[in-house]
Amino acid sequence: MVAGSETDKRLLERVAEVYEWVDLQVCSGGEMAGVCRSCGDCCDFETFDHRLFITPPEIMYLAANSGSGTVKPMPGDRCPYNVDGRCTVYEYRFSGCRIFCCSADEDFQSGLSEAVLQKLKSICVEFQIPYRYTELAVALNAFTAV
Ligand code: SF4
Ligand code: SF4
Repeated sequence: MVAGSETDKRLLERVAEVYEWVDLQVCSGGEMAGVCRSCGDCCDFETFDHRLFITPPEIMYLAANSGSGTVKPMPGDRCPYNVDGRCTVYEYRFSGCRIFCCSADEDFQSGLSEAVLQKLKSICVEFQIPYRYTELAVALNAFTAV
């Protein structure tokens, strides 16, 4: 991705729109969306028995917005952006991070996840990016190895 091109700007805008939409759905979901205490435990995937999958537009969005060199590899089971229990890229976090809540209704979360994946797939089609749905560690390690 070449930073600053018109295509890239449009791509980033499209991802931002999707995230805005997701946040609105979570906000209006009320009890079904759950209540997060921001403890950060679910960012330690092995311990929490949780998995996070992401798509190429999401990692491109993180890379573009969090400054060069801040896409970190993930050698362990905890997201590298979780520092002392806090998300250091909160504004740019992935759709799965926005949707998942340990006290949410599972059907609500599944429905929302499906809907957002369709939107992210559309972005891939529009910008001719191969669509992938990849576990976080695999995606971060592949991105930082390039
Ligand atoms: S979803 Fe649950 S485990 Fe994850 S940060 Fe929120 S309260 Fe903690
Ligand atoms: S991006 Fe932030 S919210 Fe998502 S897993 Fe990493 S630390 Fe947790």
